[in-house]
Amino acid sequence: MPTPTETVAEENTVGWRFDNTYTRLPDDLFAPAQPAKAPEPRVAILNHRLATEMGLNLDALSPEAAAALFAGQALPEGSQPIAQAYAGHQYGGFTILGDGRAILLGEHRTPSGQLLDIQFKGSGLTPFSRRGDGKAALGPMLREYIISEAMAAFGIPTTRSLAVVTTGERIYRDGILKGAILTRIADSHIRVGTFEYAVRRGAATLQALADYAIARHYPDLADGPGKYLEFFRSVADRQAALIARWQHVGFVHGVMNTDNVAISGETIDYGPCAFMNAYNPATVFSSIDHGGRYAYDNQPAITQWNLARLAETLLSLFDPDSEKAIALATEVIEDFPNRFDAYWLAGMRKKLGLRTDEAEDADLIRSLLDWMQKTRADFTNTFRDLSSPELPADDRYQAPEFQAWHTRWRERLGHEDSQGAAALMRSVNPAFIPRNHRVEAALAAAESRDDLSVMQRLLDVLASPYEDRPELAEYREPPADESNYRTFCGT
Ligand code: AMP
Ligand code: MG
Repeated sequence: MPTPTETVAEENTVGWRFDNTYTRLPDDLFAPAQPAKAPEPRVAILNHRLATEMGLNLDALSPEAAAALFAGQALPEGSQPIAQAYAGHQYGGFTILGDGRAILLGEHRTPSGQLLDIQFKGSGLTPFSRRGDGKAALGPMLREYIISEAMAAFGIPTTRSLAVVTTGERIYRDGILKGAILTRIADSHIRVGTFEYAVRRGAATLQALADYAIARHYPDLADGPGKYLEFFRSVADRQAALIARWQHVGFVHGVMNTDNVAISGETIDYGPCAFMNAYNPATVFSSIDHGGRYAYDNQPAITQWNLARLAETLLSLFDPDSEKAIALATEVIEDFPNRFDAYWLAGMRKKLGLRTDEAEDADLIRSLLDWMQKTRADFTNTFRDLSSPELPADDRYQAPEFQAWHTRWRERLGHEDSQGAAALMRSVNPAFIPRNHRVEAALAAAESRDDLSVMQRLLDVLASPYEDRPELAEYREPPADESNYRTFCGT
């Protein structure tokens, strides 16, 4: 570890600009917390590109100083670490939760004026740890790093990953694993579950949180009597847009509990998530999701359910007359499927190169998806193949049912400017997604051999997902068989 004087000198050159706006909220919304001692911090990976976007210069740090910083051993100047309180509905059941293995260092102001949460995940016990150890293992932290950065490269709103360090500590799960800390960057970590917690603390706490969330994420909302309802409507709108984006790339979040729904509209919590290969609307990867509550095609309906939980917390702010408040909330909740469908259809049109709207488009899209489901076609590659000047030689594309669909689509495209269509398709249909077997291979190399090069190569591929890179064709291949592929929560 560096001496204290070295630490301060190096920190100042990193460029942190901390504010601690969340600590100025009512103090029942958080508890002070400190990162645990890490015996031997070492950098696994640093996200220099993200650091630069944030106005930070990590090049100024020695490897030891970077390890100490991102293991929480030398806190940035101005940070005031807290654990955030929240609750949540997990698989439909209500629980009080809170940051059990995360610590918010505070909010960093970027050169463009954006306020970003800087959070450690896996940095030890907090007042909300319940029976957990507050720690995280290297594999799951690298997994979050890979998938969140891939989502960002797709252009999908998401928390980001700035660094992963190993702590030199062993942690105990099914076996003995390497301890690690992820530094997560977010527009904020306010969740639907934060509101579920706040409303139970009383009217003043609830309103303070709502006003803070509006000021931070929806500053354009008029400061009028209807602003809380408009806030709810805007959150619903961002969720509709977000889930539509997930559907467009075959992303299965896997644990859409209300504590994992961000008010900012970002994807948050990369636990059991994974990408669908063969198109199957019932796709589930999570080992504990037996009922398919969070299956691919249930993501919009579950979001509507989660938004209803948010609305319940806000009723008293919608209208003092509870009947009226319920009617106002119901109108927004019942409109959610329309909102989602509009975003979904708009994005699916783009995936097929269509910039104009025609009544038959929804049916055209549905019949392609039906064919993909029947033939177990790879979701990502089918759309990318359709984006190429010529379809690859593949027997499935010779089948009469597909040919009939293809003719119908080409005719529909005839009403469009064709050159533009191909470019549009290539800009929304990724060639590269984090294929589950590639992610696992990257994690295995890192965990078992301290070899981060497999992950670095994968990250490089995923950083430009829409580029044609024929030399990387192997990264487009789905796994041979993944019928037994399972993912895990909270590990
Ligand atoms: P998640 O599955 O990540 O959404 O976490 C659900 C809840 O469990 C949150 O309150 C976490 O802080 C908590 N949690 C998960 N893992 C641990 C751990 N190892 N120690 C303490 N709390 C944890
Ligand atoms: Mg979570």
